[in-house]
Amino acid sequence: MTDFDLLFFLKMGYTTNRNNNRPSIPDGWTVIINNLRKRGIVMKEKDCIFCKIAAGEIPSATLYEDDEFRVILDLGPASKGHALIIPKEHYRNLYDIDEKTAADAMILAKKMVLKMTDALGCDGYNIVQNNEECAGQTVFHFHMHMIPRYKGDKVGLGWHTGELTDEDKKEILDKIR
Ligand code: AMP
Ligand code: ZN
Repeated sequence: MTDFDLLFFLKMGYTTNRNNNRPSIPDGWTVIINNLRKRGIVMKEKDCIFCKIAAGEIPSATLYEDDEFRVILDLGPASKGHALIIPKEHYRNLYDIDEKTAADAMILAKKMVLKMTDALGCDGYNIVQNNEECAGQTVFHFHMHMIPRYKGDKVGLGWHTGELTDEDKKEILDKIR
């Protein structure tokens, strides 16, 4: 077993599920993960539909593909051109994705949004990324929604605004800072 193989198995141990209290993939492993990816070794999760779509095992309307990501049209679009950025590695969501892959996903979102805005003639964009069931996540493989917006469209992504109380503000600032 090579060092790479060993690290691959270690990494699989981090195929995280926050509910299992496993830690996130350490960010220092990014170089190793990228080397594994270049060798065609990609961490997948059995029975994950987005792993299969990202790997091309299930057909999809692919807008873009590279070593790290596949960008596809969403099957249930909120608006015309709604697309998903899907990493080829399996990460459950933002809680366990490594920092570099998360950053690369946002860089790709910027590129795609510029291109798609020209192509679709839309007026704006929402980037949406859901984490865990309570937040609306239904497919538990990290993905970013890119939702084109058209003036006057009926896409509903809003929330009812509350009020930031002094109590909440103090409690949160005390906990986080
Ligand atoms: P989320 O609720 O954030 O987990 O988003 C999952 C998204 O994946 C939804 O917008 C679905 O419409 C979309 N989706 C699920 N299965 C597929 C599929 N096979 N191909 C394309 N989009 C899909
Ligand atoms: Zn997956």
